[in-house]
Amino acid sequence: MQKSPGQHPSASGLRFGPALMARLDALAAFTEVEGQLTRRYLSPAHIAAMRQVEAWMAAAGMSVRTDPLMSVFGRYEGHAPGAPAIMIGSHIDTVIDAGRYDGNLGVLAAIAVVAELRDRGERLQHAVEVVAFGEEEGSRFSAHILTSSALVGAVGPELLEVRDADGISVREALARAGGNAQAYRDCVRPRGEIAAFLELHIEQGPVLETQGKALAAVTAVNGSVRSRVTVSGFAGHAGTVPMGQRRDALAAASEMILAVERIGGSEPELVATVGRIAALPGAQNVIPGRVAFTIDMRSPDDAVRDRAHGALVPALEETARRRGVQVEIDTYQRNAATALDPLVIDAVSEAIAACGQEPLRLPSGAGHDAMIMAGHCPSGMLFLRCKDGISHNPAESITVDDADLGVQALLEAVRRLDRRLR
Ligand SMILES: [Zn+2]
Repeated sequence: MQKSPGQHPSASGLRFGPALMARLDALAAFTEVEGQLTRRYLSPAHIAAMRQVEAWMAAAGMSVRTDPLMSVFGRYEGHAPGAPAIMIGSHIDTVIDAGRYDGNLGVLAAIAVVAELRDRGERLQHAVEVVAFGEEEGSRFSAHILTSSALVGAVGPELLEVRDADGISVREALARAGGNAQAYRDCVRPRGEIAAFLELHIEQGPVLETQGKALAAVTAVNGSVRSRVTVSGFAGHAGTVPMGQRRDALAAASEMILAVERIGGSEPELVATVGRIAALPGAQNVIPGRVAFTIDMRSPDDAVRDRAHGALVPALEETARRRGVQVEIDTYQRNAATALDPLVIDAVSEAIAACGQEPLRLPSGAGHDAMIMAGHCPSGMLFLRCKDGISHNPAESITVDDADLGVQALLEAVRRLDRRLR
């Protein structure tokens, strides 16, 4: 059990925030490891959390079912039973030693939205379905966004053979947990059955907080380009080779890394990171002869990202020429950005404004289930401010006021989507 469950100030006048925070605290008690929140896919803690989520869905007036890969769905019918659904939700698996809001917030806020519709006796043209996905984080099987991928038909049998650190495959873990790997194709939802997908999620970055805003409509999930760079100079004695005669691979790489930083800052919403570096031979008294480092460059706009990456290559080569070293750039991965649906983005922006907040539009630097759903139906995301932009960490934190606004905005967005989607 983590500390401070249920001790949030029950600010008066907040309709949804205090109850939502109390449920987020209660769900955080479902953990594999006492004293922290670790809830990996198909662990006993995940299964127990599923049962709790199912109970809350049923109490909010939803019919509940679980698919073969253990995503949980709660359905609240519209005027006519069987109508296409507006799906809202997120994931309930966590990273190791997680915070309690990543994923869980989106699921429990979605349940609060349906509870409100039910309490008001309000039915929509569309059904509303709440989903609690699993293995979004990939913290057990390195098969991240697995269960949303199954929903859109992007899972093949090979993914079910991926093994965790104990050698247990997804297939075996599903059998133990009451799922059914054999039936993974039954997870697929035909196009048209889901009219739209909308995910409320903490921002996991500091932009909302810096700008003093509670909520943002997400425009796109960033695409990325990843490269390995090798710089070859000439190793030599740190005491005997004069400075003017060196071909120091690490000094050259340092200059290149600063170029990565400069180019990364050259366009709005572009980011570039050197996250790993190794220098050889790696001795205190030897001039480094060889350096390898990585570049991770992301943008919501593929053209911007490719332009920046295009500028990077000659910059690195110029440094190499001037310093008498060789540079090799191996670009081994390019993932396109995922644009979210304009109709959903507009509905979310208007919903934020309807809650008295100034709507901001932001790209997402991290991957989410919505990125997978976007290939299947009009999809969008609503970001909620988190303290200091911290996530994947027990220090993850949101306020009760923001939680309240999150439910309100999600509800308003669902109503707007219901009117506009045909
Ligand atoms: Zn998440």
